Amino acid sequence: MARSGLGLYLHLPYCPARCPYCDFNAKRYDHGEARRLLAGLAVHLERIVPLAQGRPLDTVYFGGGTPAMLPATELAALLARMRGLMGFTPRAEISLEANPGALSRGKLAALRSAGFNRLSLGAQSFDPGLLKAIGRGHTPDDTRRAAAQARQVGFGDLNLDLIHGLPGQSPAQAAADIAAALELEPKHLSLYELTLAPGTPFGRQYRPGQPPLPGDDEMAAMEQHALAALEAAGLERYEVSNFARPGMECRHNQNTWAGGDYLSLGPGAHGHLSGVRWAWLSDPAEYCDAMERGEEPHAFREELSREQRALELIMLGLRTTHGVELAPLAALLGTDPRRMYGPAMAQLQARGWALVRQGRLIPTPAGLAMADAAAALFA
Ligand code: SF4
Repeated sequence: MARSGLGLYLHLPYCPARCPYCDFNAKRYDHGEARRLLAGLAVHLERIVPLAQGRPLDTVYFGGGTPAMLPATELAALLARMRGLMGFTPRAEISLEANPGALSRGKLAALRSAGFNRLSLGAQSFDPGLLKAIGRGHTPDDTRRAAAQARQVGFGDLNLDLIHGLPGQSPAQAAADIAAALELEPKHLSLYELTLAPGTPFGRQYRPGQPPLPGDDEMAAMEQHALAALEAAGLERYEVSNFARPGMECRHNQNTWAGGDYLSLGPGAHGHLSGVRWAWLSDPAEYCDAMERGEEPHAFREELSREQRALELIMLGLRTTHGVELAPLAALLGTDPRRMYGPAMAQLQARGWALVRQGRLIPTPAGLAMADAAAALFA
């Protein structure tokens, strides 16, 4: 996996409403608080500039939440400030997450001309009943319209997010979602399985594998069909949940998974620089308070040991089809990783979950399906 340059993740935590399955740092949009946060972000951006040490940004990712809920002028102003303060590499990837219901052609055109060049649409499903059941306010036609308008204004790099395993979803409905998504010819598709996060309404309401959630056999059928259909459409799997046309992988995420450096801004946003990682305070009001007092809004900051860094590289690498590069791991550990992780690597291979090839530990399709269990062998 190519390791990119410096990234920057910006978290904007506002959404039209809170979805019943969501455990992200997100909340209902509050205009007054959003204005205060934008002012705080402008201050924080200036403060983090020295961390870049003169390196221009190679990837910028506006995530959330639903960042596209904010006015295009505000998003454009933030991006222009970043460009002015840190600079962008010539082929910088600048992504924006968006809810299909929050977009118009004019807004998309303004965002594209501001410099955003990758749009990630939270389609989730193309079944109106399922969208309603998961608390999404947009319709399948909103997604189709947003994708078409995005393309018209020059967003060639379009991602669609889908979720499988929704309450009451059959394998046929999941297959129809994949077909509907492919009709929009995205360059990238992220396919997530619904997770029942504790503390969410869905986490309290449902049990994994119990009706109305699909059972294990139905989930396996959905996954099998999705893998085949996406591959047939030229979208190659490059991470457990991510598929792209060759060359259209999300470089921001690839950099993160490869242990690269990325700065962060916004409530709850995580960052990493050369083995030091941190997260900012997740509550927007506390984050803004810290900005106004001139304090660093750290929720935590920790220096990782070499072993911790190595383990992270292994865990993240085992979720990608590129796998884990052994040479950087050896450089980090100061010894051959086979000496430190021999038993775990042998187990992986004995279970058919990974191969050692071309200086990499590469997960097999079975290993990708068992990525968490594979990583646990190293813990
Ligand atoms: S739109 Fe996304 S981030 Fe916002 S509440 Fe729903 S799932 Fe969470």
